[in-house]
Amino acid sequence: MCGIIGYTTRKNNSVEITLNGLKNLEYRGYDSSGIALFNGDKIDIIKSKGKISNLDEKLKQHDTTSCCSIAHTRWATHGEPNETNAHPHHVGKVTLVHNGIIENYATLKEELKAKGYKFQTETDTEVAAAYIDYCYSQTNDKLKALVEACKKFRGSYAFNVLFEDEPTTIYATRKDSPLVIGYSHDGNFAASDISAILNYTNKYSLINEGEFVKITRDIVTFYDKDLHQIEKKSETATWDAAQYQKNGYDHFMLKEIYEQPKVINDIFDRFYNNCSYKDIDLTKYEKIHIVACGSAMHASLVGKYLLQTYGKIPVMVEIASEYRYSEELITPSTLLIVVSQSGETADTLAALRLAKEKGAYVVGIVNAVGSTIAREVDKCIYTYAGPEIAVATTKGYTSQVAVFATLALIAMEEKGLLTDEMSKTIKEDLTNVEKNINSVLENREKYLDIAKDIYKHNDLFFIGRGIDSSVCMEGSLKLKEISYMHSESYSAGELKHGTISLIDKGTPVISIATDDKLFEKTVSNIKETKARGSYSIFVTTQNHGDDFSEFADKTILLPKTTDFTQPILTVVALQLIAYETAKLRGCDIDKPRNLAKSVTVE
Ligand code: GLU
Repeated sequence: MCGIIGYTTRKNNSVEITLNGLKNLEYRGYDSSGIALFNGDKIDIIKSKGKISNLDEKLKQHDTTSCCSIAHTRWATHGEPNETNAHPHHVGKVTLVHNGIIENYATLKEELKAKGYKFQTETDTEVAAAYIDYCYSQTNDKLKALVEACKKFRGSYAFNVLFEDEPTTIYATRKDSPLVIGYSHDGNFAASDISAILNYTNKYSLINEGEFVKITRDIVTFYDKDLHQIEKKSETATWDAAQYQKNGYDHFMLKEIYEQPKVINDIFDRFYNNCSYKDIDLTKYEKIHIVACGSAMHASLVGKYLLQTYGKIPVMVEIASEYRYSEELITPSTLLIVVSQSGETADTLAALRLAKEKGAYVVGIVNAVGSTIAREVDKCIYTYAGPEIAVATTKGYTSQVAVFATLALIAMEEKGLLTDEMSKTIKEDLTNVEKNINSVLENREKYLDIAKDIYKHNDLFFIGRGIDSSVCMEGSLKLKEISYMHSESYSAGELKHGTISLIDKGTPVISIATDDKLFEKTVSNIKETKARGSYSIFVTTQNHGDDFSEFADKTILLPKTTDFTQPILTVVALQLIAYETAKLRGCDIDKPRNLAKSVTVE
């Protein structure tokens, strides 16, 4: 959500470099963009609504020779996504870009108005700029001004700030929004994430909450909240710029779908070769709470099924934004697992902090190394899925499911529930996962064929029982996110309790039956929809034969495996149906409207 990049350099190419960086942050989601550049005399601001290409066009009319600039992609929270509200914002001597929300901006705005400040935009950010300017006018010290202003701000922020009287120095700070410092041969950066600067450097440092940074082209100085200088180690990123390219695929989403066999195989490999989280004692806790948002929440539901069914541990899954209302259920005997691909999800972070306050032990399942959630949990399990650029998650989700599968196995081992025979079957399954996902990926024409059947419809249903019902939720979300088609996911047995009234002649129903125990019951539910005229697409496993013409118009057959990998195979088929459907509908697959990759606001 939103991207920030600032660069101060010994050369004159800061505009080109910040703009390139901004393009690498596009995946985070945005609706407008802007840049502030020091032109050797003063700071110019150029902004534009919509895509970065619009800003690019505008910049062609300007002299872009500049040794220091700060740039921003905005995901509007306060005020329409128009040019006026786009960042950077300029008040008095201050020009800044901001990611996050200043929750008390309305009160501060009144305070500032009384002091004579006037406002041009509807944003909370302009108020922050004005407040920093006011503090600067009182202290005549830039770092102190920033510290004092931040004491006043409630909410979340990552700032890059320029002061008129020192226009080649970037001041930066953050709270609950990401920001990293990058060091290159020609100058230094402050950016939302490392992907923005990987083309120029892989040396970076993380900024902790409440730290302040002064960045010149020669030196970066870190300060704590009392402005005592602190030493910072630099780190070396292991992801490289090539991972941020499409490598011949039409979309990042497709590339990431095809990366799944290896990503999942690596997780199981690490598990068998003694992964670091084998020491989490799952037997110690009375209950597990799993908290997440969106697809990560759907992965958590699969996790709940596996941990309860096989690990025999009671599990509650809660949406992160609602978890704070279950506060009384959190005790020191609760294990909290938080799941977030980006490790920056604001709702999940808030839940994690609440649970820690209540004395719970918190484990994180996170992809982005060094992210806020990864740093704040007691124990972090990295999925190491590599950068995920498409907004709609694929390998992010399946890698979370794979980690849950390993946690369920750990619970079984710890509780003595894993017989030798089971252990052998599961090991065989996990060893074959790469081959099995690849065989699901091979069915591309089938998915396209199904997409052709459904893409003109306005409504679609996914139904399944047990573990399949959680996978249906993810299949439905994938379709909604990228094709803008309305779909609903229902437990197959629940449809008849109301929603079946929506099934009409030709309504597509994608039903999933991979669990042998539930096969017959699910088939009965499918027949109920068929009797009302549904267009039936049936997803099942190869062990049930191949003639389902009695109740299915189209069938997809998956390899039969154990519950530890079956949901992964199923979802890959659903991801590709969503992908092909969105493509037929001409949608912007990697950057769906209104969505942001890393949701850093509550
Ligand atoms: N709240 C700010 C705005 O609406 C910043 C949004 C963002 O993080 O992009 O302008």
